[in-house]
Amino acid sequence: MECGWCPRAATCQPAGGSSSSSTAALAAHFLSIWPAPPSRPDKSTPTWLILGPLSQNTCCGASGIFKPQPVAAKFPLMGPRDLTSGVTPSGRRVSEQWAASVTGGRPRVVGGQRPASVHKRLVAAFALSVVTLVAVAAVAVALAVRFQECGGDEEAGGPPGTDRPSGGRGERVSAAEEEPWRRSRLPEAVRPRHYDLNVAVHMDNFTFSGDVGIDVECLKATRFIVLHADRLEVSSVAVTAKRPGGGAIRVQRHFAFPANQMLVLVLHRELRASRTYRLDVTFEAAIEDELLGFFRSSYGLGGQRRYLAVTQFSPTHARKAFPCFDEPAFKATFSLSLRHHARYTSLSNMPALDAAAAAGEDGWTTRRFARTPPMSTYYLAWAVCDFASRETSTEGGVTIRLLARPDAIASGAGDYALHITKRLLSFYQDFFKVAYALPKLDLLAVPKHPYAAMENWGLSIFVEQKILLDAQVSSASYQMELTMVVVHEICHQWFGDLVTPLWWEDVWLKEGFAHYFEYVGTDFLFPKWNMEKQRFLTDVLHEVMLLDGLSSSHPISQEVRDAADIDRVFDWIAYKKGAALIRMLANVMGQRLFRKGLNDYLLSHMYGNAARDDLWKKMSEVILCRVQAMRSEGRDIDVGAVMDRWTLQMGYPVVTVSKNPAGQLATRYISVSQEHFLYGQDGGRGNSSFQWQVPLTVAVGNGSRVSSETLIWIHNKTETHVMSEMDDKTWLLGNINQTGYFRVNYDLQNWKLLIEQLHADPQVISVANRAGLIDDAFNLARAGYLPQGVPLQLMAYLPEEASFLPWHAASRALYQLDKLLDRTDDYNLFSDYVLKQVATRYHQMGWPSNAVNGEGGVLQAAYQTEELQRELIMLACSFGNKQCHRQAVAYISDWISSNKNRIPPNIRDVVYCTGVSLMDEDVWEFIWMKFHSSNAVSEKKILLEALTCSDNAFLLNRLLNLSLTSELVAEQDAIDVIIHVGRNPRGRNLAWRFFRDKWDVLDARYGEALFMNSKLITGVTEFLNTEKELDELNEFIRSSGEGAGPAMPRALEIVKGNVRWHRLHRRHFYQWLRKGPAPVRRSPPGDVSLAA
Ligand SMILES: [Zn+2]
Repeated sequence: MECGWCPRAATCQPAGGSSSSSTAALAAHFLSIWPAPPSRPDKSTPTWLILGPLSQNTCCGASGIFKPQPVAAKFPLMGPRDLTSGVTPSGRRVSEQWAASVTGGRPRVVGGQRPASVHKRLVAAFALSVVTLVAVAAVAVALAVRFQECGGDEEAGGPPGTDRPSGGRGERVSAAEEEPWRRSRLPEAVRPRHYDLNVAVHMDNFTFSGDVGIDVECLKATRFIVLHADRLEVSSVAVTAKRPGGGAIRVQRHFAFPANQMLVLVLHRELRASRTYRLDVTFEAAIEDELLGFFRSSYGLGGQRRYLAVTQFSPTHARKAFPCFDEPAFKATFSLSLRHHARYTSLSNMPALDAAAAAGEDGWTTRRFARTPPMSTYYLAWAVCDFASRETSTEGGVTIRLLARPDAIASGAGDYALHITKRLLSFYQDFFKVAYALPKLDLLAVPKHPYAAMENWGLSIFVEQKILLDAQVSSASYQMELTMVVVHEICHQWFGDLVTPLWWEDVWLKEGFAHYFEYVGTDFLFPKWNMEKQRFLTDVLHEVMLLDGLSSSHPISQEVRDAADIDRVFDWIAYKKGAALIRMLANVMGQRLFRKGLNDYLLSHMYGNAARDDLWKKMSEVILCRVQAMRSEGRDIDVGAVMDRWTLQMGYPVVTVSKNPAGQLATRYISVSQEHFLYGQDGGRGNSSFQWQVPLTVAVGNGSRVSSETLIWIHNKTETHVMSEMDDKTWLLGNINQTGYFRVNYDLQNWKLLIEQLHADPQVISVANRAGLIDDAFNLARAGYLPQGVPLQLMAYLPEEASFLPWHAASRALYQLDKLLDRTDDYNLFSDYVLKQVATRYHQMGWPSNAVNGEGGVLQAAYQTEELQRELIMLACSFGNKQCHRQAVAYISDWISSNKNRIPPNIRDVVYCTGVSLMDEDVWEFIWMKFHSSNAVSEKKILLEALTCSDNAFLLNRLLNLSLTSELVAEQDAIDVIIHVGRNPRGRNLAWRFFRDKWDVLDARYGEALFMNSKLITGVTEFLNTEKELDELNEFIRSSGEGAGPAMPRALEIVKGNVRWHRLHRRHFYQWLRKGPAPVRRSPPGDVSLAA
């Protein structure tokens, strides 16, 4: 699932790449040989062709670890291993209680106490045993009575016992054990093996009805079948034994238990362990106009409104479409058939078994889809629509289709995504050495979706803005963003669909990988973009360290108990910190071993589930095989022990590196210390018990050269290490190329030397580290670890900077400062400082020509230059460069007078926004009109955002109010309107008031899609920075926002931090700006004024 909406940039490259022929064999045979799952997981596991390593048994076989070769492998169905984990089956705990009560009754000799006499002990033990026996008997009687009551109450729709006062502890335990629907997790006594699901879809009145037959295996004798169902009208249930002569099992009663979204069947007699049964349920429900479950959506074509219905099941919404065991570990196979009017087509994870069936007399048609491999419910999917499609196929025979509105298909807007998907399937197959598992992959572009995209196996669903590309008008950053969403979803076909996290606490196992591979996969498509080594830093590492440096952050693996917790785990910590940790591990292990570990992990858990320890185990195994070689490089690590520190503790360390501390040691010594980095602790700092095993890479430099890096493992709070080649003139640089997930601080003298180096010859330090130094210095100062002057002095080297990435890191930092300062009296001091840094390079780079991106050839070569040019124009126009303003106004005037848009696509957003903010109301109306008439989704998006740039409060208010009309503004875009109005200093109060006034409407609309809600809350509040606004936020949270999840406490912490920064640091900050940067000289070490 891709939640991301952050701006990025990009193109395409000729098709190519190889694909194994075994994939073809795999696909061709798929429909006929996909086996039915066995009734016993540990026997007769069917075989399946996959691409595997040459030597799966010898983990470090010298010959071609990564050579693909077809081998036979098995897909393990969920076996007994899973059953031992998690919740203890019900009967057990009662006996444990019993055992505990007996043991507890025994007198124990405690040190220092006088032992009781034997006689007294015996009496006491006997008495306690009797009491315990009586208590247990009483509980048993109570339970028997309760069951009697349940059985006699078949027609009463509610769960039994709900209105009974609960008694003592013993009774409550019994209730939980004997009423398994009261637990938030499903019991494990029965598990599904196969679903036959038939759904009839009524698009005329937006309802659907269905029946599902589920083959379940009983693992432990039970009288209950508990599964999920939510908002479904269940009309009948039946259970039969699946064996010769096995007849119907009477269902004593069935009822919904809405608190846990469960459907409960109470049977007359127990199901027997090791037997299989068939559960049949019929149901119906509405196809709601919302964003979850099986929902509807619409689009306009030729003046008509046309409808479609699609699914979004992740994480817990399959239960809104059919009764099912809606937890990821309950994998099963699915045979789906959809019945609908013949004017629609339908699709699902697997191909249709029959070509489009002819309409019956009633005008309806039924489509049956091939049986799926074992899979979790959350990535099952189907859709009913009247879309058109384009298709291609891989050399291995996998059919790839892109389906979208007919006009989008006709214009070719889907061709780009189709083209890169074909290349990506080959890329991932080669990288993972595991074939794509299904015979086809459909990409469906829908007008409305709660996420950027969802990775349903074989049927990935994207919101149009993240998959349709009109090459004539789309900017490079739009194309890059779209590319990365596609790369992300295709990665999930392996990480997520083929191997699924066991439970939601480790959702980062799929999201972290998919996010990391966005950069690796995009590098494959466009090697010159250098995404993984560069853009990853600003867009992932720097971004998530902002969040994870808050005390309201949480560990990446977090406990998940109820449904609200499940929504909560899909946040930037899971995605971005997950990706950053995976990248750190890959760099420590080395690419070769890392890939080998991934291959082993996928092969071991394919068609099944895995937890983080399973991944660490595979990674450790490949390292063990190379232990000698790894030891000499300091890379023979215990992966589990190292990574647990990073995944189970929240936050990250700041590592402080000091040369020759206090002059006590020889110059070659450095002292290294670590502490928990936190914003806004004012010297109090973070959790002092937190400690990490930090892979710190260090290099020393001196004027014109830098040494090769040394890896130092830091295990303690403070350590001393020896470096070679050190003297007074050499500087130290830590976290080489920012592969580690931590910040690095230095003593002030070292900062001074680094700053001198940047001013004199920045190229000596790598592009990635130049960006890293900017981000670290800025954030260390913001959190109070460094004087405010350090980052300002450091960024004063920017006129010498010719690369995009450091500029991008700097502009992110400058916009952060801008948010804090844009309503202060001395703001001009700051904007003048920024414009001074930008001026030289901005005039040198100029404005882009109006060349169209075309197939991306131009962009491919010039990406870094174009991105830098765009970044400088954005900074210049945002901070008030007059020439930039004139240029933007000229472009808009030309567009209005000629009705021809000659603005280069790459900078349209900047020009539109600048024009709207500087020009009169007519321009706003003109852009509003263009927003309505444009069909290109990328263009629509930036036109809408430009409208938020106006200085006119009346227009901004009008826009805010219109944004909630879904016919005018798509639901997912309304959030951006509100956030962008808040970004505009003139609109800040309006957006903040609008947000509070409309909270009920917004919460009803987005509350369940927690990621959108969180984005909205953060976006509207992050600019607040006065005491008054802090009071207003506190008041709002007290009165309305308490149920809004973790975004509210986070918002509060950010705003408190903003207010604190003003109180503690603003004066020093402006003092430094008033004084201006001191001259920086190379030699001798100058008098750089760092302290503010
Ligand atoms: Zn994802």
